Amino acid sequence: MTAPIRLLPPQVADAIAAGEVVERPAAAVKELCENALDAGATRIDVDLEGGGLVRIVVADDGAGIPGDQLRLAVARHATSKLETVDDLARVRSLGFRGEALASIAAVSDLRITSRTDAEDGAWLLHSRAGEVLEHRAAARAPGTTVEVCDLFHNTPARLAFLRSERSESAAAVRAVSDLALTHPEVGFSCRSDDRLLLRSPGGSLIDTATAVFGRDAAELIAVEAPGGIAVSGLISEPRSHRGTRSGLVIVINRRRVHNRALLVAVEEAYAGLLPVGRHPFGVVEVTLDPAMVDVNVHPTKREVRLREEGRVFTAVQRACWTALQEARLSAAGIRLPQLEAEVAGAAGADEPGLELRESPGTRSVELGPPPLPEAAGIRAAYGDDRSPAAGDERAAGHRLSDLAPLRPLAQTSEGWLVAESPRGLVLVDPHAAHEKILYTELLAEGDAALREGRAATSQLLLVDSVVNVEPAAMERLSESFDTLTGLGFQLETFGPGLIRCSAVPAATASLDPGRLVRDLLDSLAAGGDARARRRRLAALTACHAAVRLGDRLDPREQLRLLERLVVTPGGLTCPHGRPTVIVLDDRSLRRAFGRPAP
Ligand code: ADP
Ligand code: MG
Repeated sequence: MTAPIRLLPPQVADAIAAGEVVERPAAAVKELCENALDAGATRIDVDLEGGGLVRIVVADDGAGIPGDQLRLAVARHATSKLETVDDLARVRSLGFRGEALASIAAVSDLRITSRTDAEDGAWLLHSRAGEVLEHRAAARAPGTTVEVCDLFHNTPARLAFLRSERSESAAAVRAVSDLALTHPEVGFSCRSDDRLLLRSPGGSLIDTATAVFGRDAAELIAVEAPGGIAVSGLISEPRSHRGTRSGLVIVINRRRVHNRALLVAVEEAYAGLLPVGRHPFGVVEVTLDPAMVDVNVHPTKREVRLREEGRVFTAVQRACWTALQEARLSAAGIRLPQLEAEVAGAAGADEPGLELRESPGTRSVELGPPPLPEAAGIRAAYGDDRSPAAGDERAAGHRLSDLAPLRPLAQTSEGWLVAESPRGLVLVDPHAAHEKILYTELLAEGDAALREGRAATSQLLLVDSVVNVEPAAMERLSESFDTLTGLGFQLETFGPGLIRCSAVPAATASLDPGRLVRDLLDSLAAGGDARARRRRLAALTACHAAVRLGDRLDPREQLRLLERLVVTPGGLTCPHGRPTVIVLDDRSLRRAFGRPAP
């Protein structure tokens, strides 16, 4: 027979609810530190015993809680940070649910000692399993100390799920580190069984990052992109990387969040810079209108919902990309002044014959990962309606054409080309160079065909290729059919889920057409307007058709590639914005070898 339905006694209900907010000691540590931050603390000291299960102490020098409000502080849904439902939409404090202290109190032996500036003495409240045992005067300097003992003593089921003390204390110090990174101006310390695990001085982000990331922090690159969606922070130099994503901290409006999309945005900025399977680390902070963020979607506020996530994604990706690019160009040892000017100029000249009538404000950045940076060069090139050629002219004296004639000298065993130009030694990434040549040619041919009212040049396949695609891809095909035709593909639907491909752009004639078409349709899933889709399709087609870095090229092929590169508008960067060439002129070599200028 089943038991009758009964209302749970309040203590049991509270213990169940508490599990949602404080699922492990680290969660309690996080909530207590957040309260201290909300109270304006400048120093927060955390002490753990037994991974936080035996004892957690968090002491701060914040505003304190008046003695007569201590009982309220541990009551459920009691908060000083929110009054109306409307306030929820513009939460600026870290806490707002009024649940943390109540939840912790429900599953522990809790002592809060607090004193405000206005009071002569401190007050102490002692409760066990949510029941107040004691409320009396005590001694303390202004600020608050919360002591949590025997966490989960009355919820053995929860206790059984916890991992070792070691991993609990690791999670707790991790929570403190996150808060230190989001509030670098506040000094934090965290001890576990008397071992000092973290001490951040309270100052600049770089000081705090050094405390958190250790020695590696010396290599961090500053990100700084102001604006409506401002992005700032410190990200790892491509030379140092980690095996997991956990070293990358995403902060939105001073709150650490776990947002997969934004992690991917940062990683995309590193595309091609890190070995496969390795990840960047650092802190990326996004500051935007609080109305664009919904923080009330997760019990521990771990996740947030972003309105216009796409825009935030793009802002993060671009900011990181720009920071990496700048850092690379001024990399230690060899400075590449000409190249710097050329890359900036070339970026604006990315796509010949397109988008010339656009104002800078409406410029699409959806080229595909990573996007073009909004560098000074782009703004200059687009600010006054000049053609890309004019943009090139603007960087007078630093043009790609200055490298002509570009003569191949050798190909290294890894595949890089070494060439000689009137400007000096030139190193070429053959894949990136070829990719840009093909990309530019594909788009230019499409434009010409459109102007002249003819079909884009393509190569008929000896045998039609029949491609099997899923229904969603079929939809995407019909949407982008004209774009694909404009690039030289001849496709027709051939029955449910089948596409017949009878011609492809000449450059891709030797590839497996089925795989290429499937990849192209997949890439359309990323969406974007027609122009963005066209560029993405052209970039992907070029990427498939271009030589690989390791491919051996005979001297004739090397020469042909370099000749085509120097006449390619914007040829200094590949379609993803990475450089195609590095110029080592006499000046940079002299500097690198420590010889005086001639
Ligand atoms: P919330 O932070 O969501 O408001 P809590 O249960 O965490 O809810 O805290 C309840 C209230 O107790 C807070 O609104 C705040 O007024 C007060 N409080 C908690 N911790 C501190 C602290 N360290 N310093 C000052 N006030 C605090
Ligand atoms: Mg709180």
